[in-house]
Amino acid sequence: MSLFTAVEMAPRDPILGLNEQFNADTNPAKVNLGVGVYFDDNGKLPLLQCVQAAEKAMMATPSPRGYLPIDGIAAYDAAVKGLVFGADSEPVTSGRVATVQGIGGTGGLKIGADFLKHLKPNAKVLISDPSWENHRALFTEAGFTVDTYAYYDAAKRGVNFDGMLASLNAAAPGTIVVLHACCHNPTGYDITAAQWDQVVAAVKAKDLVAFLDMAYQGFGYGIAEDGVVIGKFVAAGLDFFVSTSFSKSFSLYGERVGALSVLCESKEEAARVLSQLKIVIRTNYSNPPIHGGAVVAAVLGNPELRALWEQELGEMRVRIKAMRQKLVDGLKAAGVQQDMSFITTQIGMFSYSGLSKDQMVRLRNEFGVYGTDTGRMCVAALNSKNIDYVCASIAKVM
Ligand code: PMP
Repeated sequence: MSLFTAVEMAPRDPILGLNEQFNADTNPAKVNLGVGVYFDDNGKLPLLQCVQAAEKAMMATPSPRGYLPIDGIAAYDAAVKGLVFGADSEPVTSGRVATVQGIGGTGGLKIGADFLKHLKPNAKVLISDPSWENHRALFTEAGFTVDTYAYYDAAKRGVNFDGMLASLNAAAPGTIVVLHACCHNPTGYDITAAQWDQVVAAVKAKDLVAFLDMAYQGFGYGIAEDGVVIGKFVAAGLDFFVSTSFSKSFSLYGERVGALSVLCESKEEAARVLSQLKIVIRTNYSNPPIHGGAVVAAVLGNPELRALWEQELGEMRVRIKAMRQKLVDGLKAAGVQQDMSFITTQIGMFSYSGLSKDQMVRLRNEFGVYGTDTGRMCVAALNSKNIDYVCASIAKVM
């Protein structure tokens, strides 16, 4: 009998478990479309030029590594506000946004979840059906009951928007609604601008708490374009939460750079909210690490590096879109009869392919093509070398 005798083995993380299986696969043609990571056309994880330039400058004048403030690097937090709300926007210039540096987008979500648990201990959390798997786990671990709002419509190959709106309208006042600001993970289907207007109106009318998860800003249509939804919530006069991740947009996955921003009614209110966010951080990990935040702040704070970043991010965005088209064309050429053009109506890094679990398992076992059992494939891992093989493999299981 030990202290841990009763500890049960937890299930493996579905995506990371898939990675382990991929690494162990000896098929030389294997392709990993499981994990949500952008790879370049050579199948390599990019190290952006803007990041290298910022790091080079940092190394030229090395700085000591004291503790950061609890809420992180001030210039970083300011840069996040600018990206999310617009540097000259009223919320930013009036000082009513509380922003803290977070350990990745996940960290931003968790700081918000812990703060909300104090603020609204009995509120329920709604996530999209389906959503990024960790949304449910994270809010559950923070102590909330997590339910879903309707989202994906498999038959329609799109969003069940009527269902989504009905779910929101049926929610109790104070319910926390986690919304994907752009590039929905896992489906790749976003709602339209006009539909966002209806969501904003429902959030306002039903007195819901919006928590926007922005993990892919710049991967949809552009940095400002993907941020348009934020402006809609601002214009409606709502208070809300936004988590930011730079994992994908800066290809800084392992540096864990993200943030949480909370839009408040006034500057004075933002100061009070910030003081509480700092307690959440202080009691979890005290203060964030320096490097990733310093790199992002350096890039966003330097006009030339920022322009370079926008160019590099644009290249990633354009390449993903090109791969979507290649996938549609390649599947047709490989003999798939069904119209697969819906893949180009999806946006961001992922595609819900519509393939069944059985088909996904066959793709994995017979062809070494790895996607999740739900049919999700990471389009950002396709390239000019693996696309034909992937198309031929999918054609064989369809
Ligand atoms: N939200 C969504 C929707 C995501 O897809 C991800 C990353 N897979 C995150 C949050 C977390 O981002 P990070 O890796 O920066 O913690």
